[in-house]
Amino acid sequence: MAKKQSFMDKTQKKKNARTCPVCEGEIQFVKHVRAVKTEAGAWKFRTVNTGICKCNEKEVYK
Ligand SMILES: [Zn+2]
Repeated sequence: MAKKQSFMDKTQKKKNARTCPVCEGEIQFVKHVRAVKTEAGAWKFRTVNTGICKCNEKEVYK
């Protein structure tokens, strides 16, 4: 019984939050606006859905 329950817990956690295999931290998905320079030299803003965990949070929240 105990084994079955822990398996259920794991499945539910996976549905609600994704875990990074590298840092084992929770991955949060946020909309992140990124400035992209076009070939013409103009700046364009693109909204990208980024998954953030401890591995890349410093890069995203500069
Ligand atoms: Zn990570």
